[in-house]
Amino acid sequence: MSTHVTRSPVPPLDDLVERLRTIWDSACFTNDGPLVQEFEQILRERLEVPLGFATANGTLALQLAFSGLELSGEVITTPLSFVATSSSLQWMGLTPVFADVDAETWTLDPESCRERITPRTSAILATHIYGLPCDVDGLGAVAREHDLALVFDASHTFGCRYRGRPLASYGDVSTLSFHATKPFHTAEGGFVCATADGVAHRARIQRNFGFDGLDSLQVPGINAKLSELHAALGLCLLPGVERGIEARRARFESYRAALAPAGERARLARIPDDLDYNYAYCPVLLESEEAVRRAWMALLDLDVYARRYFDPPLNRLPWTSAQRTPVAEDLCPRLLCLPIFEELPDREPERIASALLRSLDGGGVAPPSAGTSGA
Ligand SMILES: *Cc1c(COP(=O)(O)O)cnc(C)c1O
Repeated sequence: MSTHVTRSPVPPLDDLVERLRTIWDSACFTNDGPLVQEFEQILRERLEVPLGFATANGTLALQLAFSGLELSGEVITTPLSFVATSSSLQWMGLTPVFADVDAETWTLDPESCRERITPRTSAILATHIYGLPCDVDGLGAVAREHDLALVFDASHTFGCRYRGRPLASYGDVSTLSFHATKPFHTAEGGFVCATADGVAHRARIQRNFGFDGLDSLQVPGINAKLSELHAALGLCLLPGVERGIEARRARFESYRAALAPAGERARLARIPDDLDYNYAYCPVLLESEEAVRRAWMALLDLDVYARRYFDPPLNRLPWTSAQRTPVAEDLCPRLLCLPIFEELPDREPERIASALLRSLDGGGVAPPSAGTSGA
């Protein structure tokens, strides 16, 4: 069987059937039903965000964040992310303006953001890429100085704690994705974490067509509700989250040990001391795009499908404007994500890492660029 970069956790079927039985009994499938309410309550406590709520997916969570904050004009954002980070801006009529990332942390560089501010700028949208924390203090300072909203795409962060609190609790608004490929999932789903009452209220009613109460419609909304079926799946998967992190941590450490001989030629993400990481991704930075091609082919020989998350940089897409971001443009083609998930056999990281190490000196042909297809 082929090995992919991740494998979605599956709950015990009996647990899910038990949850589904309550839906069958009540015939309540959606519209803020009891399972969504229970799910949201647990997540608000877990994420330490009293005003959080669930959405149908992570892209709509981003869009509700922008509309809740009443953003307009330009939003400064990162080229190193999944396409939805910037396409969601464009879908909302906002203009993504790309700043560069930091070469060490791979996240948005506050100084580069500062240089891209214009009178039309309304917010900074940064991604905690692979669950690694942005410079929350630096970005916060720039946002405060220029009266900008600070939004974090925290799609990759479920289970990450940074400086003693959940990483998704930072910023004016943070959003998560619960897509099946993410560190925790509801098949499709998302979450909005807002800190201000007004923003949370606006975003929340816009999730349900703009209904505020039974028949009051003051703002135009959309349908971004999570269904009871999706909430049932999430409730069944929550108890396994810590076990999943622990299993991935062990595999990450195996990769680290096995790749150590390559030093900077195959460098793993640097995990800050004050981060409790969720080990949802295992990105490795190689010396060149050519090295990535050779590694990708070498792993394919083992029936292992590594992914080029996230290439190309988003400022190189045909529909975005081409602000130059030299650091991101250098990093994106050199990043390769290795398989990491609970069921990955114990010895696989070692086998994958040795094939990768051998490929650093071998030959190969070009793989397709995979950064913009699939999550
Ligand atoms: C997956 C992802 C999204 C989109 O989430 P969906 O739930 O798939 O809509 C947004 N941003 C990032 C960084 C992602 O990885």
